[in-house]
Amino acid sequence: MFEVSNQPPPLEPYNLFASDAVLREAVKREQAGWADSELTALGATLGQPETVQLGFDANKFPPLLRTLDRYGHRLDEVEFHPAWHALLGIALNAGLHSSPWATPRPGAHVARAAGTYMLNQIESGVCCPVAMTYGSIPTLRHAPAIAAEWLPKIFARDYDQRFRPAAEKTSALVGMGMTENQGGSDLRTNSTRAEPAGDGLFRLHGHKWFMSAPMCDAFLVLAKTAKGLSCFLMPRWTPDGERNAIRIIRLKDKLGNRSNASSEVELDGAYAQLIGEEGRGIPTIIEMGNYTRLDCAIGSSALMRQAVAQAVHHARHRTAFQKHLIDQPLMSNVLADLALESEAATMLTMRLARAYDESDETAQVFRRVVTPAAKFWICKRAPFVTYEAMEVLGGSGYIEECVMPRLYREAPVNSIWEGAGNIMCLDVLRAIERTPKAAEVLQRELADGDAWLKSFAGRLQKRLSAADRNDESQARALVRDLVLALQAALLINNAPPPVADAFCASRLNGEGGGAFGALPRGLDLRAIAERAAPLN
Ligand SMILES: Cc1cc2nc3c(=O)[nH]c(=O)nc-3n(C[C@H](O)[C@H](O)[C@H](O)COP(=O)(O)OP(=O)(O)OC[C@H]3O[C@@H](n4cnc5c(N)ncnc54)[C@H](O)[C@@H]3O)c2cc1C
Repeated sequence: MFEVSNQPPPLEPYNLFASDAVLREAVKREQAGWADSELTALGATLGQPETVQLGFDANKFPPLLRTLDRYGHRLDEVEFHPAWHALLGIALNAGLHSSPWATPRPGAHVARAAGTYMLNQIESGVCCPVAMTYGSIPTLRHAPAIAAEWLPKIFARDYDQRFRPAAEKTSALVGMGMTENQGGSDLRTNSTRAEPAGDGLFRLHGHKWFMSAPMCDAFLVLAKTAKGLSCFLMPRWTPDGERNAIRIIRLKDKLGNRSNASSEVELDGAYAQLIGEEGRGIPTIIEMGNYTRLDCAIGSSALMRQAVAQAVHHARHRTAFQKHLIDQPLMSNVLADLALESEAATMLTMRLARAYDESDETAQVFRRVVTPAAKFWICKRAPFVTYEAMEVLGGSGYIEECVMPRLYREAPVNSIWEGAGNIMCLDVLRAIERTPKAAEVLQRELADGDAWLKSFAGRLQKRLSAADRNDESQARALVRDLVLALQAALLINNAPPPVADAFCASRLNGEGGGAFGALPRGLDLRAIAERAAPLN
């Protein structure tokens, strides 16, 4: 029998909160220090070997569609592995689907973002219904009577997996159906019809090309009335206790996100209630979109953190050519570069979450401009980081028993859903154009920089006020630079100097975007990599 040697110990059990210096500091800085003990407890639960295994099982045994029963009656149900339900139970128990709304307090969105960030590292699929439920609440409040009926169930923390009318359940989850076959970005092309059925009720007829987590208890959907595109709440069961006419045609066979079911549905006169003003469906449902976009940034930051934590852990234990990998100068450069990307993403995500806790004008402007910007850049970086981190583990990183392949397959989805990259960049242009204080708020955020940042931010401000600032063909470059400037400012003001120096030296010089591990000489690479080590 061959000897097993030079293999690192598994990174478990470990505490995802206590071992993450960047996250802990961000939580405190962004006004959620009061959540420390709750987050420490959640971090411990998530890092238990049994919980880590749930993440693997939920993906190894993907959901199954049950269209009809054996007699031919419609079921339209999706069966999930018990691991999926166990993970959703952890999420709801921690209040990740609704806590800032159920128990509002300063820092509540930040605390919830930190919890969601940790859950995403163990299993991302369940974060889809969690994010949609979280985002649905402000939209539901446009219909006070409907909100009064649903919010107590949505706020509840005891996950009820039964497929029963919401009235019979202890808790409820909400999904979303916007995307149609002929156009997801251009929602004005939605063709689903809503026909009045009396008493403020409607019947929906049409087709939704993507509707994830179809076992949610209700969905916010867009459909056309005589007055135009409107927003509706479409429950899975009618008030008479019948299955609503939501026909699940198929489940998508996806690259990643495999634990989660993403369905294609036909609405065959499905019962629905109007939310908000008739004909104002897009602005009503877009409110939800802001929160789910925040969750895309949280999710991609989390994938990067998990990938970097695994890579640094591996490199601290594995030896090659008589040295630990982390002590090899070139590997040290790769790890430091990955750690910079992860720390910058986490910091900006948590700063953005704080803007959702605040209601003053600065916060409103900040979240309007920075939500799509952060979603664009952070989600774009995740596939590169997960890929490079995988390589740190060598061949073992490519094997399915390791979490790396799952992180890598998951990474692109946050950039596509809830508005793909170009759509986010165009939204940033629109936000800057239509928000009078945008330039002022961004300038203040970038004010306390070093020489690197001052000159970078000065050039950026010129571009933001130039006559051709709305040139769509240049929107990606502009938004990337805006995010890099914001990340640099956060690091300069809050991270140890080696981290901030290395970020500015490598990201503000116009040479970024190539392979990781090309940081210039003279930086404290070891200190940067060690800061990312998952040490309890
Ligand atoms: C796993 C998964 C789960 C999903 N779950 C849901 C869900 O639960 N509910 C839901 O409603 N949707 C869901 N979606 C759908 C998703 O939100 C859409 O796929 C997305 O919004 C893009 O729409 P589309 O696929 O129609 O692409 P299109 O709108 O055709 O866009 C294609 C490409 O063109 C670009 N583009 C579009 N317009 C412009 C322009 N003016 N200038 C430059 N470029 C442009 C886009 O950026 C994109 O890269 C899900 C998608 C995935 C992959």
